[in-house]
Amino acid sequence: MKNNLLRQSELSMKAFSEPELVRYFTELSYRVFGVSSGFYPLGSCTMKYNPAINEKVASLAGFTGIHPLQDIKKTQGSLRLMYELISSLCALTGMKDGTLAPCAGAQGEYTGLKIIRKARPERKVILVPDSAHGTNPASASVNGFKVVQVNSDLNGLVDLNDLKSKLNSDVAGLMLTNPNTLGLYEFNIEKISDLVHKNGALMYYDGANFNALIGQVKVSENGFDILHLNLHKTFSTPHGGGGPGSGPVLVVEDLVKYLPYRIIKKVTKNNKETYSVTTDKNSIGRISMFYGNFLVAVKAYAYILSMGLDGFKLVSETAVLNARYLQRKLSEKFFMPYKSPCMHEFVLSLDDLKEKTSVTALDFAKSLIDYKMYAPTIYFPLIVKEALMIEPTETENLDTLNNFCDLMFDLLDKSFTNSKELKEAPTLSDVGRIDEVKAVKEPILSVYDEGEKI
Ligand SMILES: *Cc1c(COP(=O)(O)O)cnc(C)c1O
Repeated sequence: MKNNLLRQSELSMKAFSEPELVRYFTELSYRVFGVSSGFYPLGSCTMKYNPAINEKVASLAGFTGIHPLQDIKKTQGSLRLMYELISSLCALTGMKDGTLAPCAGAQGEYTGLKIIRKARPERKVILVPDSAHGTNPASASVNGFKVVQVNSDLNGLVDLNDLKSKLNSDVAGLMLTNPNTLGLYEFNIEKISDLVHKNGALMYYDGANFNALIGQVKVSENGFDILHLNLHKTFSTPHGGGGPGSGPVLVVEDLVKYLPYRIIKKVTKNNKETYSVTTDKNSIGRISMFYGNFLVAVKAYAYILSMGLDGFKLVSETAVLNARYLQRKLSEKFFMPYKSPCMHEFVLSLDDLKEKTSVTALDFAKSLIDYKMYAPTIYFPLIVKEALMIEPTETENLDTLNNFCDLMFDLLDKSFTNSKELKEAPTLSDVGRIDEVKAVKEPILSVYDEGEKI
């Protein structure tokens, strides 16, 4: 190395004792709100409890000490874990094989659409319902597809006539979330799949939030050909500020040959199982490392083993029961734009309240923070005005759900009697409400502003 690149003096860093550091990080942790601090009903995000055993298993030296370029003979245990995780996910969805390469749900969509591109090279259009997660049209666009929107009907489900009118020989696939982002099950799913397949197109399942169907429905039987799951939602691995993601893609038999770079195979010889990696010549190529965020896969597999494949039936039943309980109770005083019983989440609208009191969904979200509850997702899906999207998950108990309802009712009363409190919230958190207009008009996109350190 060149001499002028070498450090000339010691780094001047203050030394801290272990207790000082522990206190420092503990204090920081108090300032962060997570699933471990309180109720976190963030719709479309499935903020379920992340079992501590997952972390323990993922910190075992055999997993953390592994190197990507290590001889495959020395990594048989890790390959087996990945193989068995993919097999479990296939068992839960009815798919044939898959990949752990995508490091987020959106990257899973990107991968899945690349496969559709390769399987239907002549076709240029992807259909996406108007209630879809924003990543769906984005993933289709970055893959070079034209996105055509399919409208929802008055019940919040795919409008079959609109779908029929948009199907033609240019359509490569339909991306569908089921239950959709309104928390409603597409009862016409088989009819929809039939229409799409008869048109020669493929069915893509956005399975980011698989919590309502897991253990109940094999989505292959609904007619889906390809899907992604979010291990960091349904399979209890931390997300948001808490950890990296994983969005495995699974496919039906016909599409296996397109899976990205390196597929894990099991070979049984003389009663001995070994694991190898291969790539088909039709593969879409490399997406990222074939093992993805490996330690996330370890945590998800620990969760699957601790639940048992049969245990997921109870997960989905409880997740749906909790959501329906909240939906029913809150509907006593809040407006539900879609009234049918929800699946794992539901959406209410504060549009009417805003008219009467000027209190908005944002004010409600910010106020909940002062009462040590995280806010629901707001202003999504786009088809509901002043939307609050609530997903309690299966890991919350009745007391928590009741406390949340009581708080929501209190805030509703306060909207009429003391709206100022809601408008100014949060006042008890470390960070108050930012000036969003100023943030948009004068964004500071770097920590260095015109050469000055801020
Ligand atoms: C979260 C989510 C995604 C995207 O997943 P990321 O890991 O955030 O990229 C896609 N679709 C739906 C329905 C989601 O809820």
